Amino acid sequence: MSLVLDDRRRAMLAEMGVRLFEAPSAPPAVAPAASAVSLAPIPPAPEARPQPAPSESPAARRVPVPQDPARAAAIEAMSWDELEQAVAGCEACGLCASRRNTVFGVGDRQADWLIVGEAPGENEDLQGEPFVGQAGKLLDNMLRSLGLDRGNKVYIANVLKCRPPGNRNPDPQEVAQCEPYLRRQVQLLQPRIILAMGRFAVQALLGSDEPIGKLRGRRHEYMGIPLVVTYHPAYLLRNLPDKARAWADLCLALELMRGNAAA
Ligand code: SF4
Repeated sequence: MSLVLDDRRRAMLAEMGVRLFEAPSAPPAVAPAASAVSLAPIPPAPEARPQPAPSESPAARRVPVPQDPARAAAIEAMSWDELEQAVAGCEACGLCASRRNTVFGVGDRQADWLIVGEAPGENEDLQGEPFVGQAGKLLDNMLRSLGLDRGNKVYIANVLKCRPPGNRNPDPQEVAQCEPYLRRQVQLLQPRIILAMGRFAVQALLGSDEPIGKLRGRRHEYMGIPLVVTYHPAYLLRNLPDKARAWADLCLALELMRGNAAA
């Protein structure tokens, strides 16, 4: 897929808050420099989960939590439908008590791209779908800037399938209990690229407490699959300069996708 910017893609980037002054004649091999863009304001989204600045110290550091091997083995053997049913009835952590809906994931089960966020917010909990509201709209625009959409070659899931009350930070115990579901989704999906969005998704997938600013811009792996770290759309709605970096991250992910596809 070419990244030469046609009018439609340029409009999508503008909606994302990224405007290129000059149309590149060839796909960017590396991230475009932040100085090459101007940034259009996007109003904040009141319903979006508050995203801490990536440079802040993690409030809930990742710690080893004992796993139940029998439960993990059972989840690893599940089909898509069995997995979805298991999540819908899951009571493995305290978040089941306050959820209105589980948020299993949405998209193409033959997807090349897996987008992983943190946890459902209020709207996601109400609708049972990840990344809705203003943050979801921005994610959709980011995907469209690459010629993608959430129903076609893209699957979207969260690390946590139930909403933490009041959008509080996920607890390490909750992440540990829910992570086997995501691992099974990755096994079933076998995506070509994973885009981890936001600090808690990155912590869960990479087991790293480093800030996103130090982890982005290079290739990581999760279960042997290339992974790119980037900012959560809810954070980007409030931090305009980092939208240019998020665009750079998308370009990197696309380049890795191409390399992976050619392998
Ligand atoms: S967050 Fe995950 S582990 Fe906790 S109840 Fe929901 S589905 Fe189960």
